Amino acid sequence: MSSIEQTLSIIKPDAVERNLTDKIKTIFTENNLKIKETKKLHITKDEASEFYKVHQSKPFYNDLCGYLSSGPIVVLILEGDNAVKINRKLMGATDPKKAEENTIRKLYGISIDKNSVHGSDSLENAKKEIDFFFKS
Ligand code: UDP
Ligand code: MG
Repeated sequence: MSSIEQTLSIIKPDAVERNLTDKIKTIFTENNLKIKETKKLHITKDEASEFYKVHQSKPFYNDLCGYLSSGPIVVLILEGDNAVKINRKLMGATDPKKAEENTIRKLYGISIDKNSVHGSDSLENAKKEIDFFFKS
């Protein structure tokens, strides 16, 4: 059954810094995900802490928020059939060492923290995350 969804992707500072934005966008578009909106921005640590607040009890939370706010990021709204799941599959496992061949994190990820991309993990979170970056 076809179900058109929108999901949020973030190209993280390590990937933006290495000029991988266009290569990553091409992976999305070649896999039937349309880029509906995209913008480059540099968020504050407070904004990163708000965005990642589901992880506030985790030992890596402080470093994670520091990292996401350490340099420019590119945020994207991706749209397509089963977009949430397709994007997660294209990203690969959180730890690039464990990511499947040809996934974004396998191709470009440096480490579990510098893993090049974020992607919403459910339709419900996708809506919240899209609103976080694109609701005016
Ligand atoms: N992270 C980390 N150390 C860990 C686990 C996660 O630095 O041990 C970072 C990693 O960059 C990851 C983010 O925290 O992308 C959010 O973690 P999550 O488990 O939601 O992974 P994801 O959904 O990004 O695959
Ligand atoms: Mg996650």
